[in-house]
Amino acid sequence: MLRMETIQYNLPQSRIPLAWYNIQADLPTPLAPPLHPGTMKPIGPADLAPLFPMSLILQEVSTEREIEIPAEVRQLYAQWRPAPMMRARRLEKTLDTPAHIYYKYEGASPAGSHKLNTAVAQVYYNKKDGTKHLTTETGAGQWGSALSMACAFFGLDCKVYMVRVSYDQKPYRRALIEAFGASVTASPSNETESGRAILAKHPNSNGSLGIAISEAVEMAAKDPDTKYALGSVLNHVMLHQTVIGLEAIEQMALADDDPDVIIACAGGGSNFAGLAMPYLGRKLKGQSKARVVAVEPAACPSLTKGRFTYDFGDTGHLTPLVKMHTLGSTFMPPGIHAGGLRYHGMAPLVSHVLNLGLAEATTVQQLDAFAAGIQFARSEGIIPAPESNHAVAAAIREALEAKAEGKPRTILFNLSGHGHFDMQSYIAYQAGKLENYEYPEEEIAMALAGLPVIG
Ligand SMILES: *Cc1c(COP(=O)(O)O)cnc(C)c1O
Repeated sequence: MLRMETIQYNLPQSRIPLAWYNIQADLPTPLAPPLHPGTMKPIGPADLAPLFPMSLILQEVSTEREIEIPAEVRQLYAQWRPAPMMRARRLEKTLDTPAHIYYKYEGASPAGSHKLNTAVAQVYYNKKDGTKHLTTETGAGQWGSALSMACAFFGLDCKVYMVRVSYDQKPYRRALIEAFGASVTASPSNETESGRAILAKHPNSNGSLGIAISEAVEMAAKDPDTKYALGSVLNHVMLHQTVIGLEAIEQMALADDDPDVIIACAGGGSNFAGLAMPYLGRKLKGQSKARVVAVEPAACPSLTKGRFTYDFGDTGHLTPLVKMHTLGSTFMPPGIHAGGLRYHGMAPLVSHVLNLGLAEATTVQQLDAFAAGIQFARSEGIIPAPESNHAVAAAIREALEAKAEGKPRTILFNLSGHGHFDMQSYIAYQAGKLENYEYPEEEIAMALAGLPVIG
């Protein structure tokens, strides 16, 4: 008789969460308030109104523990949620580890990553509040793909500023975004003052997320019918992503197991927050003992090497200042092939829980990330996004530690997306053309020296 080992822990559609979990209700100390970029004084909801619809602004500052997910959003979620949770039994065997390795697979969404969880929610609220056009930025292209798809579902017009280097290197991502009806402009562009200012100094600029954000924000601020959408960093984005962890808690119960360590990669912090915050909520109530680990690239180490202070979210200094772990808004990260992790800052909520000692952070070098991704692919059959490879590498590290100790360990990590649009980076890796980057100490010191002074 063939003995089937359970590797999938599936929930029925009826178990899609009814409400997002807001950790702001349970934090031992509240978040520091955002500051106005001109006056450096705390801002109120009205200050954000040129950029965001009021329903999202209210979520941004809410301290309600549970925020109901609108029925229309749950109906859209039903296409890919509850997202699969799998046990990586073949990877466990390959590593010959006593550890149990589980992963939550967000690449099963039609956009290929967790970003669609917040995209459909953000577009829903924009539509409800009367927004006609949305602007945004995209680095690796995942966020642009998710937002343009959500805009197509709701019939909203969408404009994407795509970081120049991705625009040139990732024509398939661009084609996907355009297929959903959005227009894509390479950033820096001549369409905005922020873009023109950069081009005047650096005509061949590769662009950065910080610059693209300035362009998208500037366009939204100019027109009352146009709003801006951000795919990470903000509190309401972290909130929408909590469906990941809420489902994972139920799926781990189906597996009759309990994580000792929870792992996710962190660029702006949203897939990490999505998996971790519901567990941290339990940890604060004494119901979970799990260590929680955010993994970032060694080349862009905002959590492990950045400063916890007020900084701008963009290079052009148009956004409010938020208190976060930052490398400085002018920091240009080295050109690692995980575009989604090349951001100078980190979500204030993620920065805050790290600062409170509720979570830890670690780094992974680029070559180790790809080696882990290949090992995972050969065991599990899924090619992870280069960003997700960082989580895979950290999970493998934990599994090998458990092996060295000869003790079991239950590991849960977030596989935030698949890498089907990132095969160029795998080509470069397999051809031996990728390199590790040393910690860019001098550039970071320079960018940190330029941090705003709050007095
Ligand atoms: C955007 C992205 C990330 C990084 O963003 P977070 O907000 O830190 O989650 C990670 N993985 C994938 C697949 C992404 O698309």
